[in-house]
Amino acid sequence: MSFAAQTKSELCRIAGQEQCCQKAECYGMWLSSKHFSHQAVCLTTEHLEAAHRVADLTAQTAHVIVDVSVRLTRQTTHSSQVTVAGEDQRETFLRFFGHTGCEPNLRLNYANLENPCCEAAFLRGIFLSCGSVTNPEREYHLELVAPFWNLAKDIQLLLSRVEGLDLQPAVTNRKGTFLVYLKGSEQIADLLTLIGAPQSSMQLMQVKMLKELRNDVNRKMNFETANLDKTAAASARQLIAIETIMNHMGLSQLPEDLQEIARLRYENPEMSLRELGENLAIPLSRSGVNHRLRRLMELAAELVPQKDSQKG
Ligand SMILES: [Zn+2]
Repeated sequence: MSFAAQTKSELCRIAGQEQCCQKAECYGMWLSSKHFSHQAVCLTTEHLEAAHRVADLTAQTAHVIVDVSVRLTRQTTHSSQVTVAGEDQRETFLRFFGHTGCEPNLRLNYANLENPCCEAAFLRGIFLSCGSVTNPEREYHLELVAPFWNLAKDIQLLLSRVEGLDLQPAVTNRKGTFLVYLKGSEQIADLLTLIGAPQSSMQLMQVKMLKELRNDVNRKMNFETANLDKTAAASARQLIAIETIMNHMGLSQLPEDLQEIARLRYENPEMSLRELGENLAIPLSRSGVNHRLRRLMELAAELVPQKDSQKG
């Protein structure tokens, strides 16, 4: 089951809410459905529980009986159609929510959100009917598809005004429908908790924490590997320089301080600069060791051209 479907199932298990909230949730589901006019009142959903829920809510609040039909759309997907049949029934139904069914531009009728508690219920209805949320393993994205621009703006306004939450919904146009969407794990988790899906909300935050932990570990490992590579590469260059000196003039020709560090490095290619410094007869700082090794490299560089010119 997808994360969105699982979230909707969680929402569909909510029971025992106040009459005012039942009406608000029912209104949210129908208002964002494909058809909400006197020609047709019809809601299509791939979520069977949501279809049954809107049927129950409609019967309980508006006392209107709906038809629910289920058909197989793709091999495994069922699509449910919930319909209010008959012109008289539709008129009664639309009037119950304060609509004429003739509005050219459907807007949110705030009269259906009677009490402060109804806001969350209304948003739950909207999400159940036209919402979806991406699997948090992939990305953080929650969207509500509204059939009208002004309705999308009404939903956006309602979301941005939810008390105590800092929701920043955006609206965009996609192929003739209008999307109200939220990005960001905190915003999405907050909204899911608000509309009554705390389990899904918690799951989202857990996935986020795990993702961050994995990223942290990866970043640290990359950092350490890069550092190791750098140290190993530097050590290899120093070894080449020391070998060059050994072959061309012998280490015994070097001043004593350089002889000592050359031998120590040659025998301990894996040691860090700090470790090399600690193992000298008279311990030396990291930068002191670095300075001596640089002198060895410069010396070796001077030796190589001599060899070339002798050859030539
Ligand atoms: Zn209420």
